[in-house]
Amino acid sequence: MRYHIDTIPVWEAMEKETACPLCALYQKCEETEIDRSLGGSVMEPDARIRVNERGICCKHHQQLFMMQNRLGHALLVDSHSKEHLKKLDQLNKLVPAPAAKKSIFGSKKDTSIAELADALEQLSTSCVICEDIDSHMQRYMYTFLHLWKTDTKFRKTWESSKGMCLPHAAEMLRHAAKHLNAAQQSEFAGSMMQLIKSNLAEDEKDLEWFTLKFDYRNQSKPWGNSRNALERTINRLRGLCIAPDAPKKD
Ligand SMILES: [Zn+2]
Ligand SMILES: [Zn+2]
Repeated sequence: MRYHIDTIPVWEAMEKETACPLCALYQKCEETEIDRSLGGSVMEPDARIRVNERGICCKHHQQLFMMQNRLGHALLVDSHSKEHLKKLDQLNKLVPAPAAKKSIFGSKKDTSIAELADALEQLSTSCVICEDIDSHMQRYMYTFLHLWKTDTKFRKTWESSKGMCLPHAAEMLRHAAKHLNAAQQSEFAGSMMQLIKSNLAEDEKDLEWFTLKFDYRNQSKPWGNSRNALERTINRLRGLCIAPDAPKKD
């Protein structure tokens, strides 16, 4: 079964003791997908067709751009743009007719400018990299719950972990609603709430000390675990967005 293959990365993410194992898995998937997008898959017909059709989001274009492979990146964007030019031709029919030409009774063929806006929005919101990462993440979340259900060592590791960031906690609980029975849901949700609350409380305490360190009276006092408290707290509240969140101590 698929979860056997995914068991290793899920365990590895738990053993990293980061603020959120799912953020760690997301980051790893993202790096792999970015590498792959400008590597061999640039020339694979199936991958090209998908990129041409779905495009790439702003965040992932930024990451591709940072890879310094301008030719590979340009090839992707060029064929995607060619595809879009064909689609834009088709969208011409959604341009509303001038009011004077419209029938006074209206017509089923009349389109509103909002339809054109919706169609343009659809051309600029999908991302193959986001979609690929998401399909990996769905499997990882399934595997996480499977391990939590069947492996007592995993459950213990989870209970002594730093929990998850709030967005991944929400996603995980939605998965739990589908894959766990009522008693398991209660136990899992209870452990989730306890972990996210105690870890946020700890981050907040460090963050408060971080702010107090700016007071000259505290200048000579030790930073303790507060140097990266701002990054850690943001990453916990919103998911990993300011890296790295490795612990730094005096
Ligand atoms: Zn997370
Ligand atoms: Zn994306």
